[in-house]
Amino acid sequence: MRLKDKVALITGAASGIGKETALLFAGEGARVVLTDVDESHGQSVAEQCGDHASFIRADVSQAGDCEAMVLHAEKTFGKLNVIFNNAGIMHSDDGDAEATEESIWDLTMAINLKGVFFGCKYGIPALKRARGGSIINTASFVALLGAATPQLAYTASKGGVLAMSRELAVIHARENIRVNALCPGPLHTELLMKFLDTEEKRQRRLVHIPMGRFGEAREMAQAALYLASDDSSFVTGTEFTVDGGITAAYVTPE
Ligand code: NAD
Repeated sequence: MRLKDKVALITGAASGIGKETALLFAGEGARVVLTDVDESHGQSVAEQCGDHASFIRADVSQAGDCEAMVLHAEKTFGKLNVIFNNAGIMHSDDGDAEATEESIWDLTMAINLKGVFFGCKYGIPALKRARGGSIINTASFVALLGAATPQLAYTASKGGVLAMSRELAVIHARENIRVNALCPGPLHTELLMKFLDTEEKRQRRLVHIPMGRFGEAREMAQAALYLASDDSSFVTGTEFTVDGGITAAYVTPE
């Protein structure tokens, strides 16, 4: 039980990485608060997590929702130890600088970047009240590498998450609050598969992954478990890359 006695809040917990993380954390003894804009799936995942789980609807782009989700965690389970700011979108109209509409840029930034800021803004006081804790912010390998398949707003938002996480780690290091960015590689989840919607697009991405496959949401959950638990007690400010080798590769094997 690697998260015994810990209370963890997970955003975007209705699907993909967030869902697998909620299930894994609950199995490791944590009490979990799940949040998402998708109430029906969020509620259903909370039920699968067992007795020590609670769902609250929260849109991470809304300050009031983020404040409420943190208060809900403390009210329901008495404290908050772990925040996984994981909710994110990848819009199909996100392209290069010429093609991307301002509205797509603003929406992506509001959820992917401001949403993480709000999670930290309202979550950090709760972690201080608990005398420390761990924050995990989901960035992406695209914050580290450029790609010819453009998704400019998404990439810029994830670069922001990475830089913000690093700075927060430094600011709060003496308060026993660790902050790490999780940088997943391309995953076999709805988010990416909707974007790579043809076999040709999928193959174009796969050819760059040394392991020759997409990652699974469960593999990101395992990484989040390490960062959430005391196993990573000296780990803060990292770009925790879990990507099948994509950021290490210049040429991949045939
Ligand atoms: P997903 O689409 O399966 O899950 C994302 C969840 O976030 C959904 O349940 C969705 O309802 C929720 N969400 C969307 N907007 C929200 C909002 N405003 N407020 C609250 N919840 C909201 O995607 P996933 O693959 O599990 O992605 C999770 C995170 O991982 C995202 O931040 C994504 O950018 C990142 N990521 C994914 C990949 C990948 O290949 N799938 C790679 C790198 C990083």
